[in-house]
Parts: sequence; structure tokens; C-alpha cells
Amino acid sequence: MKKIFALLMILTILPLSEAVAQKATFPTLKQLQSPQSPRLGFIIHGGAGVITKGSLTPEKEKEFRDKLSEAVLAGYKTLQAGKSSIDAVEMAIRILEDSPLFNAGKGAVFTNDGKNELDASIMFGKTQAAGAVAGLRRVKNPITLARAVMEKSDHVMMIGDGAEKFATEQKIELVDPKYFWTQHRWDALQKILKEEANKKKVGRLTKDEPANRFGTVGAVALDQDGNLAAGTSTGGMTNKKYGRVGDAPIIGAGTYANNETCAVSATGWGEFFIRLSVARDICAQMEYRALPIQNAADTVIKQKLQKLGGDGGVIAMDRFGNMGVSFNSEGMYRAYINIKGEPVIEIYGN
Ligand code: ASP
Repeated sequence: MKKIFALLMILTILPLSEAVAQKATFPTLKQLQSPQSPRLGFIIHGGAGVITKGSLTPEKEKEFRDKLSEAVLAGYKTLQAGKSSIDAVEMAIRILEDSPLFNAGKGAVFTNDGKNELDASIMFGKTQAAGAVAGLRRVKNPITLARAVMEKSDHVMMIGDGAEKFATEQKIELVDPKYFWTQHRWDALQKILKEEANKKKVGRLTKDEPANRFGTVGAVALDQDGNLAAGTSTGGMTNKKYGRVGDAPIIGAGTYANNETCAVSATGWGEFFIRLSVARDICAQMEYRALPIQNAADTVIKQKLQKLGGDGGVIAMDRFGNMGVSFNSEGMYRAYINIKGEPVIEIYGN
């Protein structure tokens, strides 16, 4: 009798302990919920790449820190004023687009034929509405046009002349293409062209060329209604071939937002981010595997992207305001608002 009882006990406990073990490995999204009620969250990036300590002069580093601080505070104040995550994302990205420091808007890099071609996208997590623009040459703030495509057109993506025609209709500011000319970006192109001419390089984009990129900008936000949003804006990569489009305006690659999982903005070698659907994959890691946001971001950046040979990073946020930051490059300009509501600026890796 005792033996039968013991056997019955074992049979009952076994499946139970199995279930507990399973739960321990794969917590449900509900289990991952932070105890606190939804809070505001805001984080931005200003590009990833070969950014090492000592590679910036103290003056340059201060310029970057000041501008990142201005942008992250402006976005956060927008949220504090009760505005939407989309408003905050657009607000911060416009500030970075207007600065020559970043590879977006005013500071955009040059194509192989000496032009500036800008890409951007934005997505709202509540409705999964999205807007994207690519190959722009005259739009001062591409993120604003991306938002207009999302809110005022029947489409998700518009490119080139057509997108600029739409910008005119929407009364979005156009500038002479000369507005985007900056000495440092021009010099970076000349350097690469010279190396190509000397046959030192075969004309392919390489990750070990620091001047190739840096400074794509992006933001993710969580507003008081619990809605996530993400946006990204870039000039692409120096010496990109005319007409090349990177990951920044590709929904699911450079930008993604879904209230059920997370919001992501990426920066890095765009071709790899497109091939891996990086932004969407991070959200999928949360959705299908119930990974916490930081693990989800690391899985995609430090494992999958690394394995494929790409480099770059992401900022991400889940619907409870938990942040994820991951990059496999030496550094990534980034800024966020901490739990006390203060801006924190970081540039280098650990
Ligand atoms: N992802 C951008 C692109 O490939 C460049 C960057 O983020 O640095 O266009």
C-alpha cells in the first residue's frame, strides 16, 4: 500500500515539476510585466561604429553629448506634456537631423556621385501604422515626411521625386540640395574615392572604414497612454551607390513598433539589418520566446548579426518602459532618461 502511494506521489509530482521547469525557462509576457504602472520612456541613438575612447577630442565629445542631451530632453518633455510617443520621436529626431554632427538631415554623408540621399521611417505601436521615405534630396527633415506618409497618405513608403512632390503638397519644408553639403562629409567621400582610384579598395563598403558612416539617428518612446513608437533617419553610408536604400526606411529592418512587444530603432551596416529583419526579429524574440527586451536585442545583435558579419546596434523599449541597448560595434552614441527623469549620455562600449 505504501509503495503504491509513493508511486502515485512520484507520478503526480513529475509532470508538475516539469511544468515548473518549463515556466522557469519560458516565462510568459505577463510574468515579465514590471510591477509599476506604465511610465514614460525615451531613448535615442546617434549612430554606431568604430567609436573608441580617445578617437574624439574632448571638444567634439562635448558637442555630441550636448546635442544628444538636448534631443533626449526635448523628446521627454514632449511626453511629459502629455503628447504622443510619435510626437516625441519626431521632435527628437528633427533636432538631430538639423545638426551637422549626425548622419541624417544636415550632416548626411555623400553618395558615390557626390549627392546626399536621405532615408527615414516611423512607426506607431498601437495601430502599427508606419511611414517611410527614401532617396530624398531636398527634404530638410525626412522624419516629418515619413510621419506625413503614415498619417496623410494611403501608403507606407514613398521614394525620390514622388515623395518630394508629396512633401510639397503637405507643405513640408524643402531646401536646396546644397543645404546638406558639409566639409567633413565631403572630405570623407574624397578620401574613399582616392583610395579606390589608387586601387587600395575595390569599391565595396567595408566596416573597417570609420568614415563610411556614424551618426544615423533614431528614437523610441513610450507615452502616458502606454503607446510605443520608433523612428530612424539617415544619410546612409558614404560612397553608397546612387539609389542605394539602407535599412533605416525599411519597416521591420531599421524601425519597428508594436505595443504587444516593443519598439526598435537600428543603426549599422544596413544591408545586414535588412537581410536579418533586425527590428522585427527583436520583437519576434519577445513575442514567440517571451524573452525580456535586453536578451531579445542581444540575441539578434550579438549572435545573429555578429554571425552574418554585420555590425551596428539598436535601442529598444518594451511597453513597460524597460530599455534594451545592444551593439557589436566599438561604440554607439545613445542617450536615455533614467528612472529619476534625468538624461544619461553614453558613447563607448564597456
Ligand atoms: N543603417 C544605415 C544605412 O545602412 C547607416 C548607419 O546606421 O550608420 O543606411
